[in-house]
Order: sequence, then C-alpha cells, then structure tokens
Amino acid sequence: MKTIFKVMMMTGVLAITAGCGQKKSDFKYLLDEFADLKVMRYQIPGWDELTLQQKEYAYHLAEAAKWGRDIHWDQNCKYNLPIRHVVENIIENYKGDRETKEFEQFIVYAKRLFFANGIHHHYAEDKFFPECSQAYFKSLMEAVGEGNKCDELLNVIYNPDILQQRRSTSTDGDIVVLSAGNFYEGVTRAEVEKYYESIEDKTDETPIAYGLNTKVTKDEKGNIVEIPWKIDGMYGPAIAKICEELKLAAACAENDIQKRALGLLVKYYETGDLRIWDEFNIEWVKDTIGTVDFINGFIEDYNDPLGRKGAWEGYVNIKDHKASERSTILSANAQWFEDNSPVDPRFKKKECKGISAKVINAVCLAGDSYPSTPIGINLPNADWIRKMYGSKSVTIANITHAYDYAAQESPTSTLDEFAWDEAEKAFYREWGSWADEIHTDLHECLGHGSGQLLPGVATTAMGEYASALEEARADLFGLYFTADPKMVELGIMPNKDAYKAEYANYIRNGLMVQFTRVELGRPNTEAHMQNRKLIAEWCYEKGAKDNVIEKKVRDGKTYFVVNDYVKLRALFAELLAEIQRIKSEGDYEAGKNLIETYAVNIDPKLHKEVKERYEALNLKPYGGFINPDIVPVEKNGKIVDYQVVYNDDYLKQQLDYGKNYSAL
Ligand SMILES: [Zn+2]
Repeated sequence: MKTIFKVMMMTGVLAITAGCGQKKSDFKYLLDEFADLKVMRYQIPGWDELTLQQKEYAYHLAEAAKWGRDIHWDQNCKYNLPIRHVVENIIENYKGDRETKEFEQFIVYAKRLFFANGIHHHYAEDKFFPECSQAYFKSLMEAVGEGNKCDELLNVIYNPDILQQRRSTSTDGDIVVLSAGNFYEGVTRAEVEKYYESIEDKTDETPIAYGLNTKVTKDEKGNIVEIPWKIDGMYGPAIAKICEELKLAAACAENDIQKRALGLLVKYYETGDLRIWDEFNIEWVKDTIGTVDFINGFIEDYNDPLGRKGAWEGYVNIKDHKASERSTILSANAQWFEDNSPVDPRFKKKECKGISAKVINAVCLAGDSYPSTPIGINLPNADWIRKMYGSKSVTIANITHAYDYAAQESPTSTLDEFAWDEAEKAFYREWGSWADEIHTDLHECLGHGSGQLLPGVATTAMGEYASALEEARADLFGLYFTADPKMVELGIMPNKDAYKAEYANYIRNGLMVQFTRVELGRPNTEAHMQNRKLIAEWCYEKGAKDNVIEKKVRDGKTYFVVNDYVKLRALFAELLAEIQRIKSEGDYEAGKNLIETYAVNIDPKLHKEVKERYEALNLKPYGGFINPDIVPVEKNGKIVDYQVVYNDDYLKQQLDYGKNYSAL
C-alpha cells in the first residue's frame, strides 16, 4: 500500500489560485526559483505554546531526522554523495570568477541536485544535466583539488546513456537492472523475484515487509544476499547518529507510548529485524494523544521498481488542535462511509478500526520528504497493521498554507489559463480551496483505510501497478463522498454544490493541466499522476455518449468542461467499485489493463499545447521547502528554551546540512 499523499504540487498549483484566505503578515514565503522548481519556507504556528519538554522532544526528533539525509542520497543512486561532496567543495572554495554565465549555470545545477537529493529529477525520476559545459565543470573540479574524480563523476553527470532513470519505467527492459537507484546491484528482476518468492511465507497473516530495509546483491559465490541497513550494517554511521538522537528524544517524550515506540525503533535500527519494525508501528499508531509526532525510518517504496525497498524519511510535526476537529468528525463516522461506499459488500471492512486523523504543522522535513514534501500522510503501510490496529492520517496545514501564500506572491495562475469561463473560475475561487481540502481529508482519513483484500490475496499482487491503483482507489473514495449529502449533514461541506468546484478541477487537472509536468514525448509514469489521468480519462470515455465531460476548443485552446455532475459522480462510483474489486481479488491483469489503457500515454498534440500555455504563465510546477532552525537557548549553562529561527537562504541550508549532518 502506498500511502504518502504526494498530490500537493498539483492541487497546490491549482488551489493556490483561490487561496485559503489572504496572506496576513509580511513573512515572505517564496524564496527562490530555478529550472522547474521553486523553494519556499513555512511557519510553525503553535510552537510557542509548547512546553519546554515538548520543544526539547521535537528538537531531538528533528536532529534524528536530519541525520538520515545522507542515507536517502545514497539510496537514490550510489554516485549521489560523491557528486554532492564535489559540488559542495566547489561552492565553498572555488576562487575563480563567480560572475560568469557558466558559473551561474553550475549553481543552477547544484540547486537542482540539492532539491532532488541526487542527479535524478525528484518527481520525473529522469537524470537532468548541467547547462554549463563538461569542460567547464572539469575546470571547477580541478580548481578545488578534485581533478582525480573527473573521469568517473563527470561521466555519470553528463553521459545521457547511463543511469538514465532513478526508477526505470521500461516496458521491455529489466527494470531492476535499468534503475539507477541503489537498491539492487548485479542482480536481475527475475533473480530478485525468485529470491523473495523463496523466503516469503505466504500463509503468514501478519507478514513482515520483506526486503524493506536491505540492498540486494550477490556474494562472491554468486548467491543472492541482502545487505541490511542497520547500525552495524550498510548506513551504520548515519543510523548510529539517528539512534543517539532518538534516545535523547525518548528521555523527554510526552508519554509512555512514545517512549516505548522510540525504544522499539532504536532496537529495530540496531538489529534490522522487521518484526520489531512492525512492533514499533503498532506502538506508534497507538499514540494519538501526544502533541508532537514523527516519522523516522525506511518508509515509502515508490522509488523501488519492485515496490519493496523503503526510502529513508524523517518528519517531525505538532498537532494543530483546533484545525483537527474536521478530520475527527470524519474518523468518528468511518464505519458509515465504509458501509455506504459503492463497492461490493464482500470487499468492505466489517469493522473500521482506529482511523485517527488530525491536522498537523510541520516542524522539520527530512530525507524523502525534503525539500519536496507531502501535504498529507497516512501510515503505517502494512495492510495487516492497518486492519488490526488502524492507521494515522494527517493533513499538514502549514505546508498547504505556505503553498497558497507563496502562489499569491505570483501574478499568474493555471486556473485563469485552463478553466473554461468566468463562472467556472469564480465558483472555484469561492469553493475550490475548501472542497480540495475536504477531498484530501477523505483520501487520507478514509480512502486508503477503506476496503479489504479477500483471504489469500497477497498485498503485493498488483506488482508495479499497485501504487497508481491504490492512489486511484483513495482518490475515488474521496471524490465520491465529497458530493454526498452526508458531508453537508456533518457540517463538513458548506452546501450541496461546493463539491462541483473539486470535480471540475479534478477533471481539468487529470486530462490536461498535470501534463505540464511531463517532458514532451515522455509517457505519464508517476503513480499519483497516473491515478489522476486514469480516473479523468476513464470518466471522459465512459461518459462520452451522455456528454458528461465535454471537450471544447476556443482560439486554438482546449478546455474540458463538466456538463453533468450527477452522472460524473456515478462514474466515479463505478470505477471505485471496479478498482476495489481488482485490489481485493488481486486481479493483476485487469489492473494492468486499466493503467496501460488510460494512465500512461498522453496525446502528443494536447501535451504540446498544454506545455506551451503553461510555459507562457512562467510558473514553476514543483515546490519544496527549507526548514526553520530550532535553536537551543542557553542561560547559565542550562537550556531554557528552543527558538524557531526562519532562514531565507536555500543554498546555505543545504551546505549547512552537508557540514553538520554528514555521516556517510
Ligand atoms: Zn494517497
């Protein structure tokens, strides 16, 4: 199950046009823009209301998070850390002319590298290239005493024929061999699959996440082996630092559950034992009373072509008590939604347990969540833990708001460009932001947690299509219920029509706007984008005879307009039922067919048009954030407070992290 909600860039780009209220302070959110990226910063509301102990707890959790940074860099590609070290050295020590065009191009490459945690685009996963010449890059390296590394590293950086994609999406090649990620080495897909087949206990109803925390390679005799990521294994020095901080955090935890959870997490890092990882997650799910919470570990498997290996991730946050009321209402009614969802009763949970949901504010982003970060999180990932113990679902308010505010600092919007008429725009401005947040809540609080597999169906049955299908399932669940009268009755939706803003937006985005982020000529490969295209295309096709969604052209520009919202909702219901069936029965062929028919191929003519229209807006499709620093305040040798300091220098933070949290 894929659960981190990475839809934010797209909904962000759109929602921000409406904004969720006007920006009130002088705080500048938008810090830097380059290539297709923008860097923002966020505030931490509620920090000053924490007790000293809570601040200390959050501080050590944040330190633990930052210490994992290098692990994530290495996971993304084994050349990433050596390349970063060279780039850091040049930025800090190059004595030559820094005012030239080529140096500026080098700096843009450096910024992109830091943003992506490596040489592949953080989202598209393709390798990107410096605009300065290879000869110039070489001269920089030589000037700072790195000349001996030129041959190897410059080939990695500049050669378009090697390490093309972090996670290969090849349909005819070996996706394990072709992936540049550092999860496998010297092994083929068939070998890896055979290996896991041989060690997996299919009868186990509480299976561990086989392979989550290891690299797979061969020993000198040619046998397949797993190298564990643990304190005395691969990534040991970084993990030791993480554990040190986790122990300090445990000493000032808010309650005993947190203490026990942290103890288990440390034990897991020490042993690499995935049973202990499960025990940690069960304990972590139980902590719903604390204000400070965290993610720390090998979590999401999006980056692995086979969907097993967890990308290292850290996240520290504090609960926004007031804003949490809405998701509390949804959680309290989880069973009603399950009972009334349009899927076959055989695939419904008889008892919806412990879906806790809250609104949080981020305090520190790290690893896989930094600088690009989700606006919602739903964990843990193990299906059986979710079923037996529940899951935690959060939406991240200060990040969402920072997106909105940063966009208000920009003069153009995708809404103005891609929505059909003034009425549609005005309606979106009035209700879009609201409806979009509700959809996110439903997706996170209820969507992922809904439904169940039939007995005997493996959680890995959907293979490489699992992520996109799972996101589609959660999105459809949200879309279907956003329009339900129950939402007005619960006081969550303001009126019975507001959902239409989200429907129109979703279709516009799925059929068109989101392709601004795919390179011309390339297919649509990212799971969340595939999910949205699948849903929108499928509904467009199935609703064609009733003109549910109409394609209109004006002045050579294409628009997609929803004509019949009631029928569109019925189509969402139908597709939700089918995707739930596919997941519950493990119908791999049907899932594959849906994805390959609707989610992958982009009409080249439309794609070109969308890119041109978007380019003219001069907006950046991807956003990320720098963290505020949490600084201990000392008085007479004692720490009396932890202050939040808001930085405004993206490169400086990257270099500081490189200096202060480098263990590998
Ligand atoms: Zn999701």
